Amino acid sequence: HEVVEIHNIGMKYQSLDGEINALENIDFSVRDGEFLSIVGPSGCGKSTLLSIISGLLPATAGRVLLKGKRITGTSRKIGYMLQKDHLFEWRTIYQNILLGLEIQKNVSKNAKERALELLKTYGLYEFRNAFPNQLSGGMRQRAALIRTLVTDPEILLLDEAFSALDYQTRLAVSEDIYTIIKKENKAAILVTHDIAESISMADRVVVLSKRPGTVKNIYDIQLSCK
Ligand code: ADP
Ligand code: ADP
Repeated sequence: HEVVEIHNIGMKYQSLDGEINALENIDFSVRDGEFLSIVGPSGCGKSTLLSIISGLLPATAGRVLLKGKRITGTSRKIGYMLQKDHLFEWRTIYQNILLGLEIQKNVSKNAKERALELLKTYGLYEFRNAFPNQLSGGMRQRAALIRTLVTDPEILLLDEAFSALDYQTRLAVSEDIYTIIKKENKAAILVTHDIAESISMADRVVVLSKRPGTVKNIYDIQLSCK
């Protein structure tokens, strides 16, 4: 079933030069366990769309449903992964992973066990007491993902999550993260400007195109060769 439904989303920014039509009539949904990618050139509205889906930015038109309900305030259960992993250098990997739970005031015994279990499953248990700067870029991204997973999000939003990594690392890491997300059966949306990354990772690709006159076209491409 559908985890996220995006209905006719539109976004107009007011600026000194007038109105900027960042998004118009955006319509798609993401199913359970599906990995969807939003790809398009710089300025086509990817960040805007992701902010709207996360609930941080109210759209000027349309609505977003999370498991059939409108997302409001803190009720949303969304995991975010960004280009920079935002691990705290003075906290150990384990302490960093518990941080997401601390923010939600939800550090139960079960949650701690789940954190340790995820560390074991995804090869970071030996590094639980290490500090982030003792890990490779790929391991750091994995730790950032585990920190998000322990909060049990309904959907994962990845905003150019691999763009800061060098090409070789990026291939390995994106494959690694993809495998984890699929194993955990999470719905995910990856935003990227890299069409190759988008196609190699996603089950479905939504292309936002930038056209003169701020008309937005959305092509929903179903990939079936996986
Ligand atoms: P992308 O992430 O694809 O690069 P953005 O969502 O950042 O695209 O931007 C889409 C359009 O909206 C651009 O024309 C950008 O200049 C404009 N825009 C983004 N944020 C704002 C803002 N806060 N105020 C005014 N215009 C904005
Ligand atoms: P990744 O694909 O996660 O970036 P690397 O190729 O950088 O992995 O590292 C391969 C392995 O080498 C890791 O799984 C880890 O066991 C070890 N490793 C890499 N960097 C470090 C480090 N700074 N300290 C300790 N071990 C490391």
